Amino acid sequence: MNELRVFPVCAFQDNYIWVLRLGGNAAVVDPGEASPVLDYLRAEKLQLTAILNTHHHADHVGGNTGLLRHCPVPVYGPCDERIPSVSRRLREGDRFSLAEFGIEFSVFEIPGHTRSHIAFYGGGMLFSGDTLFACGCGRLFEGTPRQMHDSLAKLALLPDATRVYCGHEYTLANIRFARAVEAANPQLAEWEQAAGALRARNEPTLPSTIAAEKAANPFLRCDQPAVIAAASHYAGRPLKDPVSVLGAIRDWKNNF
Ligand code: FE
Ligand code: ZN
Repeated sequence: MNELRVFPVCAFQDNYIWVLRLGGNAAVVDPGEASPVLDYLRAEKLQLTAILNTHHHADHVGGNTGLLRHCPVPVYGPCDERIPSVSRRLREGDRFSLAEFGIEFSVFEIPGHTRSHIAFYGGGMLFSGDTLFACGCGRLFEGTPRQMHDSLAKLALLPDATRVYCGHEYTLANIRFARAVEAANPQLAEWEQAAGALRARNEPTLPSTIAAEKAANPFLRCDQPAVIAAASHYAGRPLKDPVSVLGAIRDWKNNF
């Protein structure tokens, strides 16, 4: 294999651990567990060269120590002591190269799901963790609607063709919710059919693209009249700004 490819390793119920691979080398994003990664590396005869973490939740970092025991590699992650194994702590605008893959990643700070959540962008790919999901966004555990809105808006500025690799297989449930918010959006019916067909074959619905997210993800569409109207109906009062619209639909999704 002479070109960089990205493979999903499944973990827990619905987590994806993304494996970047080129030649005999591999890097993993958000290894919540070590054992499925070690199995994959062994089966594919790959050498681990780096670990990337988007945020501190156990289902994204729980495999770090198990992997480091086998292969002492650099760990790229946020400035947050809740991930003690991070060796390269990253901030907004930082860049780093993974030489084995001929790729340079830029770092975005995207608080909202957690206060120190980051995303990795490089080679036309975005690893968005639990902030931007396909057709959805993460819960606001440590952040405000304002923070999530601004984080999503930052990611929405990336090129349309950017492939979005998020941390969970939540796409179908997210589309179902999005259809409750914006029933008349034709992109949603189309996406639901395509994603349903993939899931029926037990294949991932990811990556998505920034273009698809902008066209269908209600959390990126908080300035659209139909989304504003649905959010206002849910809230029982007229909502005027995109941040309060995001807050309302996030609350609605929590109870959906
Ligand atoms: Fe998660
Ligand atoms: Zn999380």
